Amino acid sequence: MGQRILVVEDEQKIVKMIKEYLVKESFIVDVACDGEEALQKVRSFQPDLVVLDIMLPKKDGLEVLKELRRTTDIPVIMLTAKAEEVDKLLGLELGADDYITKPFSLRELAARIKVVLRRVLGNTYQPQNIQHGDLQIRCDSREVLRGGKQVSLTPTEFKILETLARNPGRVFTRLQLLDILGEPYYGYERSLDTHVSNLRKKIEPDPAHPTYILTVYGVGYKFGGETR
Ligand code: CA
Repeated sequence: MGQRILVVEDEQKIVKMIKEYLVKESFIVDVACDGEEALQKVRSFQPDLVVLDIMLPKKDGLEVLKELRRTTDIPVIMLTAKAEEVDKLLGLELGADDYITKPFSLRELAARIKVVLRRVLGNTYQPQNIQHGDLQIRCDSREVLRGGKQVSLTPTEFKILETLARNPGRVFTRLQLLDILGEPYYGYERSLDTHVSNLRKKIEPDPAHPTYILTVYGVGYKFGGETR
């Protein structure tokens, strides 16, 4: 199943080049030409990753990134034309997953996209649905069902669940999970525990004795469900 990439850039020549190259690399690609369209397309196209230029009409890339981060953990690779933009991007700690400075090679862009997707999704093969016991995780629509009933998760809870459930039995340290979530480390370990505790209340039949999200004492968490 091809992963979905949204390319946001107003320079038509660049958009066309990127799109053609990524399609050849078997990605499913959609494009947006300004910041407002980008936010609409994130909702309607539901990309796995966004390539986001900083210089855009209507809303610039930094504003778009800021708005995205309020509601989603979607991976974002920024395109920048100037060193000052890179400084701003790093200084603001807006949570971009990577950035590329123009001019760049298409091969490099595709390679960076693959690295970020691998890091975020933790795996190269991405089934669209994961079933463990009575828990069903629909990654394309980001829905979680427990015993056929829909469970409402925050984007962060969904990302934690998806990451662990894709790799049953594999132990993730708190720092690894924070990295995947794009959270800064310092002081956030407790907030991760809070997310996990909230997640357990929503998906575990008995949150006090979890069977899906297991604590590995002194290390982190792992998924304990049997894969079906
Ligand atoms: Ca531009």
